[in-house]
Amino acid sequence: MRVSEKKTKITAATDGFDFLGWHFKVKGNGKFRSTPSVDNFKKFRKKVKNIVNNSNYGSKVKAEKLAPIVRGWRNYHKFCKMSGSRFSLWHINRRTFKVFNKETKNTKESAIKLIEKALPKVPYSENRHVMVTGNKSPFDGDITYWSQRNSKLYDGHTSKVLKRQNHSCAKCGLKFTSEERVHLHHIDGNHNNWKTKNLEAIHESCHNYTHMSKSCKA
Ligand SMILES: [Zn+2]
Ligand SMILES: [Zn+2]
Repeated sequence: MRVSEKKTKITAATDGFDFLGWHFKVKGNGKFRSTPSVDNFKKFRKKVKNIVNNSNYGSKVKAEKLAPIVRGWRNYHKFCKMSGSRFSLWHINRRTFKVFNKETKNTKESAIKLIEKALPKVPYSENRHVMVTGNKSPFDGDITYWSQRNSKLYDGHTSKVLKRQNHSCAKCGLKFTSEERVHLHHIDGNHNNWKTKNLEAIHESCHNYTHMSKSCKA
């Protein structure tokens, strides 16, 4: 499967490279290190922000909507180096707490409880997934995994669109994970238009966000 392309990527690994939402780098001591890529982390933060700052939702609903997104993101990156304040989501935690705590019906304690629900912990173990042998890319397995899982879970239209979009959401660009449902969005707002060109696969949360300002429910 496109071995030469991957070989090139592995050769350049000392400079670092982005692949499928991860950033890879081989450190001076020869150890392989992966973290969420800058772009992936940015998109994730934007998604979280859309919910936290949304005045249509109360803190309880926000926590419910945040949980699958945060769990999915943490699961996706659970073999990365996630220690340190940045990827432990310290800033998101602090900002979300502020917003929750401001709500008059919340006490400090109830806000903390909601935060625990909104930002579920996922244990990570760095580099468990890395198996660089010969010409094989460390992520061959994952690509197969995504395609198979998604086509099993979703019907013909959805799995076709998923394949076309390389299993990334058409709105936020993040990879789909098993945590959040995939919705099919009709671009022109017409439910009866099932032409592939009119369909895009997006996260449930991205779908809600898309329709918030529109009246269409496609
Ligand atoms: Zn999305
Ligand atoms: Zn839609």
